[in-house]
This record gives sequence, C-alpha cells and structure tokens, in this order.
Amino acid sequence: MKFHDNSFGRREKKAIFLSAAALAATLTLTSCADHSELPDLPPLYQSTEDTTTSLNPDQGETTFSDTSASVTEGTSATTETEIPEDSAAPDRTEQIISITENEIPFDVHYIYDENLYDDENIVLKEGSDGYTVSVYRVIYENGEEISRERISFTVTEPISKEIIVGTKPSYTEKTETRIENMISFVTRYEYDSTLEAGITQIKTHGSDGYTESTYRITYYKGNEIGRECVSEKTYAPVDKVIVVGTKEQAFYMPFLDAAHGGYNYPVTQSFSSTHRALDFGVWYGDAICAIRGGKVIAAYDEGYFSKDNILWTYGTYVVIEHDNGMRSYYAHLKSRTVSVGDTVSGGEIIGYSGNTGRVNPAPTAGKPYAGTHLHFEIRVKKGDVYVTTDPRQYLPYWN
Ligand SMILES: [Zn+2]
Repeated sequence: MKFHDNSFGRREKKAIFLSAAALAATLTLTSCADHSELPDLPPLYQSTEDTTTSLNPDQGETTFSDTSASVTEGTSATTETEIPEDSAAPDRTEQIISITENEIPFDVHYIYDENLYDDENIVLKEGSDGYTVSVYRVIYENGEEISRERISFTVTEPISKEIIVGTKPSYTEKTETRIENMISFVTRYEYDSTLEAGITQIKTHGSDGYTESTYRITYYKGNEIGRECVSEKTYAPVDKVIVVGTKEQAFYMPFLDAAHGGYNYPVTQSFSSTHRALDFGVWYGDAICAIRGGKVIAAYDEGYFSKDNILWTYGTYVVIEHDNGMRSYYAHLKSRTVSVGDTVSGGEIIGYSGNTGRVNPAPTAGKPYAGTHLHFEIRVKKGDVYVTTDPRQYLPYWN
C-alpha cells in the first residue's frame, strides 16, 4: 500500500515552525475514525481536556483563548476552532479535517466456466475500491491556511470483484448434406426383332434424379438461426430401358397356353418307346394350335374308333410340315379348321379338341366326352424318314 501524502506548501511549513512547540505539547485531537460519520463535537476549547488545544504563549506570538469549534460534513469533515479577534494578534483558527484520498481501484477476478455461454457472465461478488481516510490539522491565519499536518490515517483495502465468465461458444455451425427434389425415373421400352417375342431384357436399370444440397447451419446457443446453401449438385434421372423381343416365337404350345393368356394342361401320358407322343389332358372343345408356322400336309376325319375301322386310330387329325424338316401331329380332334395345303402361323388355331380315334376310355352314349385328350407328335426328318421325337425338347415350356 502506497500512501500518497499531500505535500505541504511552503507557507504551511512556515506555520508549522511557528506553532510547533504548542502542537507538540498538547496535540490530542485525533478522534476521527470515519470521515463520513463525524459526530457533532462539542466546542473544542471550552471544557473537556481531550479536545482542548492550548498554544503556549511563551513559544508563539499568538495566544489563543476561549476558542470554539464546529464540524461540517462533506467529502471532508472539518473541525474548526474559532479564535476570537484580538487587537494585537492575528486572526488564527485551526481545523481538523478528514479527507478521503488515495483511491485504489478494485481488481476484477475472472473465473472461467465451460458450461456457461461465452456471452454470459455472473457477478459472484461486487468489488469496491480501497481508499485512505486522512485526518489533517489545518491552521489558518487571517483566513489563510498556513499549515497542514496529517495526524492519522485509516486504510480500507479494495475488495476484488469476482465474475464467472462463460467459455462455451454461443455461436456454432455445422454442415449438413441433404437429398432433395427426387425425380422418379421413367420406364422406356425398346423393341428388338432379333429377340424372341415374349422375351424381355433389362438394358438399363433406372435411377431417380435428385439434388444433393449441402447447407451450412448456424446455431446460437443450440438453436438454428441461419442456413446457407454452400453447394448443390443435381443428378438427372436415368430411364429404365426394357428391351422387348418381337421375333416370332420358334415354337408355341399346341393349345392356347398360359404365356398367351390361355390355358395350360397337364401331360397325361409321357413320351416313351411304346407311346411316341405327348398326351395333354385338354377339355373337350378347347382350341388346338399350330406349334410353328408351316403348311398343312394331311387332314383326316377318320371318325370314332370301332371294330370296323380299327386302323383309324387318330380320328380327326392334322399334320403340319414346318420349314425346319419337322412335322407336327394333332390327333383325336373333335373338328379341324384347316385343310391340306393351308398355310398356318405359329399359335394359329387349327381345330378343337375331342375324343375321335382310339381313346381310352372310349366315349359312350352316356359319356360322350370320355377319353378326350390331345395326342401330339413331332417327327423330325432323318435322312429320308421322319422319326418321332420327344416334343419336350421343342415346346417352349420345356425349352
Ligand atoms: Zn397319345
């Protein structure tokens, strides 16, 4: 603690010299503890010993008697002693004043808290300045100060202010990428005459279009306060392309088949060494179709099997010769719609199923549809002859 004592003026020093003996002898007036709470003091030189100053007449030129004192309050308290007029002596008064001085600003201590935002703080303790209260004796002569002496002082230490200061950033930001503006892909069809009809292939897998946007988002204390698009990339949708075959089918089933929205039938008798054909369990009157384009080379109506026409085992039947050295046979028909010499396309109706020829069980008057089935053969030319072959290696269901 540094005391910044007032420096005394030249005239004050002189005054001290003049009255030094008297001051040294009886100075007891040092009762000011607090400059702001000085009580109204009684007249200093009237009755009480403690507050009487008597200047020795032998040491000074001035004799003070019958003095009185008064106190005023303010930033400095004053105790004034009036010295009555004397014809020979100068008009001398004495004042005890206390002055607050040497203000020492308080320090500020910061305590950092990472849980508090950086623009927030909490005052934990208010600070207060330190100061010194000095008590002076001031002597005036003819109204002019001639001496000043500090006779006591009280030091009040400053109190530090304590502030909790946040360090958690109140402004933060992050980037976020979003997929936006989805555009669904469309499906497109292309046609290929080298691909068999009914066959489809996926040429391109479709993908949706979209925009990939990256935003910079600003937060204040965790709440979004700003959003800026910093990059944007748009991807166009890609069409899905399906190739559809248009080439005529190599083989059709010998009836309207499931692949064409028609029927499918079970094989009721397989190809074997004793039955060189496939029998299908069709319904009486169902449409029978050419398995491939060709020309009708045989068409017979042999009627129902009997002891008299024992060789007419195929009943009503059609034979078609195809372009690839193959013939196909459709037997036991109820009726046919083509004749020898007709040209037919694959899948075209050539007749209707029935139970003519040799079928088992044979139809009777009571069971006119008994034995209905399609007897179907394929014969392939080998050398000069046509040889029955298992149709499964040609028909689309088994290919
Ligand atoms: Zn058969």
